[in-house]
Amino acid sequence: EEEDLAILDAETVAAEETSPAGLPVLAVVGRPNVGKSTLVNRVLGRREAVVQDTPGVTRDRVSYPAEWAGRRFTLVDTGGWEVDVAGMHAAVAQQAEVAVDLADAVLFVVDATVGPTDTDEQVVRLLRRSGKPVVLVANKVDSPMQEADAATLWSLGLGEPWPVSALHGRGSGDVLDEAIRVLPETSSVADRMPEGGPRRVALVGRPNVGKSSLLNKLAGSERVVVDEVAGTTRDPVDELIELDGTPWWFVDTAGIRRRVHQTSGADYYASLRTRAAIEKAEVGVVLVDSSVPMTEQDTRVIQQVIDAGRALVIAYNKWDLMDEDRRAYLEREIDLDLVQVRWAPRVNLSARTGWHTNRLTNALETALASWDTRIPTGRLNAFLGELTAAHPHPVRGGRQPRILFATQASNRPPRFVVFATGFLEAGYRRFIENRLREAFEFTGTPIEISVRVRE
Ligand code: GDP
Ligand code: GDP
Repeated sequence: EEEDLAILDAETVAAEETSPAGLPVLAVVGRPNVGKSTLVNRVLGRREAVVQDTPGVTRDRVSYPAEWAGRRFTLVDTGGWEVDVAGMHAAVAQQAEVAVDLADAVLFVVDATVGPTDTDEQVVRLLRRSGKPVVLVANKVDSPMQEADAATLWSLGLGEPWPVSALHGRGSGDVLDEAIRVLPETSSVADRMPEGGPRRVALVGRPNVGKSSLLNKLAGSERVVVDEVAGTTRDPVDELIELDGTPWWFVDTAGIRRRVHQTSGADYYASLRTRAAIEKAEVGVVLVDSSVPMTEQDTRVIQQVIDAGRALVIAYNKWDLMDEDRRAYLEREIDLDLVQVRWAPRVNLSARTGWHTNRLTNALETALASWDTRIPTGRLNAFLGELTAAHPHPVRGGRQPRILFATQASNRPPRFVVFATGFLEAGYRRFIENRLREAFEFTGTPIEISVRVRE
């Protein structure tokens, strides 16, 4: 669990200061079994997006940081779920619709050994309507002899089919070159955050924690007329709600309200919608059902907010059902499961009775203020100088890395670059992060620290 929620892992530290949240998004779309997961694995160069051998197993993780030819982007994998044959048309179309919505460009994968099917044609119509760039992947072209199969896919009207064998790697470099070519430099779907205006909140959490109940309670009679607020561009799925006299955008509320039928892809869509909402928001309120034990799904949603670099508030709902036993148990759970996010403001509330829902505003404001923070370089280095003098890095193999200088590269969330004479071990980086949090009151925001080694 600790690994799960660690934000200062090796990858974060090795990464540039740029947040993956702002990177262009490439979605891989297609019918089941055409080879989407295999292609995703090929792009990632590892077996992280495990191809499921067990039918019916749904993967939750859908987006991955990826890089090709020096370009970084986010790869959205829509494979890994099973649909029954009867519902397949609708399920594939819905999957594609959500994914395309979230993407800047699409890799549309078709099985060249099968040729275009009705479902493929349906997806094509949807792709056309979206107006987004599409690269047509003719997969399972394992040998030059099979290239004629790929040619049949011209009939889809999406231009040249790129013959690929995701399994063996054949042609995958060319298709990625093409994907990079059509992918915009910066994302128009990620970071759709206008400056100024009401701040943007995503209400997220696993099914049945009470998201729609809370939204309704908050909206209640306080619904405001959008046109009254100057400078707001309205996205029809966002809702403006006034809390204590201040308007807030609750983003993607359609996703909260919509009751996805309990088809085999339901969890999957919920997960994609959660991701979309978080991307659009500045702060995520993760709702947890305090009346039942926390699940991995709860911690995963929390992690999604952190990974996206958004401010975080945790709200324990259904507090009206709380009794002493459960409360004691919950405290232990929080200690165990949320050890890495002690920094997030917590609110205990009840969407049903409305109890303490007024405390959300304060938590949101605190988290966003931390998220916005910029520490002047002088102050930062004075602080680090004192800290590292009192607590130097432990000596390792006769060497002792020293911190030379640090600067805050950006905010929203705060990102720091630390220049050091050697690699700083994880424990020490965490120590620095914790002290930074204490000193500068980073309550409710993830912070990133990357280390650059200078000889
Ligand atoms: P998904 O449902 O679209 O994600 O499809 P998978 O990636 O799970 O692949 C479905 C099946 O097709 C698996 O058995 C793969 O090994 C196989 N497959 C994927 N790509 C290729 C390919 O390029 N050539 C061949 N021959 N088989 C492939
Ligand atoms: P969502 O799937 O996260 O949108 O959850 P809903 O808002 O649909 O709530 C799921 C169930 O939990 C419904 O039966 C609600 O009436 C119930 N519920 C939501 N909030 C509370 C609460 O604060 N207290 C209690 N006792 N039940 C609640």
